[in-house]
Amino acid sequence: MKILTLNCGSSSIKYQLFTIADDEEKVLAKGAVERIGMKGAILKHERYDGDKVKVAGEIVDHGAAIEYILAILLSDNHGVIRNREEIEAVGHRVVHGGEVFTGSVAIKPEVMEALNECIELAPLHNPANIKGIVACQRMMKNVPMVGVFDTAFHHTLPDYAYLYGLPFVLYKRYGVRRYGFHGTSHFYVANRASALVGKPLSEMKVVTAHLGNGASMAAVDQGKSIDTTMGMTPLEGLLMGTRTGDIDAGAVLHIIGREELTLGEVNTLLNKHSGLIGLSGVSSDMREIEEEMQAGNDRARLAFDVFCYRVKKYLGAFAAAMGGVDTLVFTGGIGENSDLLRAKVAEGLGFLGIEIDDEKNQVRGGERAIHSDSSKVNVFVIPTNEELVIARETKRVLAES
Ligand code: ADP
Repeated sequence: MKILTLNCGSSSIKYQLFTIADDEEKVLAKGAVERIGMKGAILKHERYDGDKVKVAGEIVDHGAAIEYILAILLSDNHGVIRNREEIEAVGHRVVHGGEVFTGSVAIKPEVMEALNECIELAPLHNPANIKGIVACQRMMKNVPMVGVFDTAFHHTLPDYAYLYGLPFVLYKRYGVRRYGFHGTSHFYVANRASALVGKPLSEMKVVTAHLGNGASMAAVDQGKSIDTTMGMTPLEGLLMGTRTGDIDAGAVLHIIGREELTLGEVNTLLNKHSGLIGLSGVSSDMREIEEEMQAGNDRARLAFDVFCYRVKKYLGAFAAAMGGVDTLVFTGGIGENSDLLRAKVAEGLGFLGIEIDDEKNQVRGGERAIHSDSSKVNVFVIPTNEELVIARETKRVLAES
């Protein structure tokens, strides 16, 4: 069946059109609409045969963006389908599923209500996801839709890992707890690692490191996420492109007092002006950090060191939480591409049985093992594929409902 996956952000929509069958999984086309509602909005589209096109236009909202996507999928010159009805289902990425959604769901009216209730938990992300769903419902009447949640894979966290040291009533009243994100990515790469090792995931202790602009790690013990670095929001844990990651809440209170910041300003400070960009003053982009660092910029080096140190620290913490680690996976734009970072993270971890082979680490390409022959732990680089998980989940959920 042909399944469209949509990942709607506040000003962008990424899409892929798949053919998914038991014996075939193929991407027919993929692309993104960027700068929705702004000047210079653009759609970038790529077909399976390498044909690429960019279309500029006035794309005022998510509905208009989806119209553009459907039009290009149907176009004579760049399209892959002849009529809209060929799209049999749509899979939507939804960032926050709260405690309600522990797995993917077919989107029905009562589900929309529950989704709207989750907005409070993710005011920066969920509204865009919902806009995409509503626009699709309007334009693609009778096409079944499925929501796939970033939080769902982490629903297996035990209470002692997801609770904060706050009055318990705040958890009960407002759902203040760790949820974790990037779940589809952690799920995908952990399963690929199991396939590469040739052992069931249920017999493995895996640490997955999804390192992109947003970054998180997960401890996947016998196939279940038992801890993860992101929290109630994607702000906690690792250092990120523009986010602080872990910070003493007392330090935040101190800054608010000294700088007399409003709620909005402190939100922007922690989410947009911190992390790599905040520490380096140079860039939120790891490639540029590495270039600057190699050109002798000390603050870029510092930002890089803080980033790597946190990954290493959590790796140790998760190994302790699982009573060991047998597989480590790097994914995300940084995890997949930065041999410098992988080498730095693994430095001195021989005591955990982690040894990287320098030559293998520098080879570029798809899925690969980068551990040395004597390493007790498998270390893999695995390109993530969240869209494929969303498409597979969409097919599975619809088959079961
Ligand atoms: P997002 O979280 O937005 O999906 P990605 O997973 O695409 O982000 O990761 C983007 C990050 O990957 C950026 O910091 C970028 O600099 C980094 N990156 C991409 N290629 C390289 C590379 N060759 N070396 C180091 N970092 C890289």
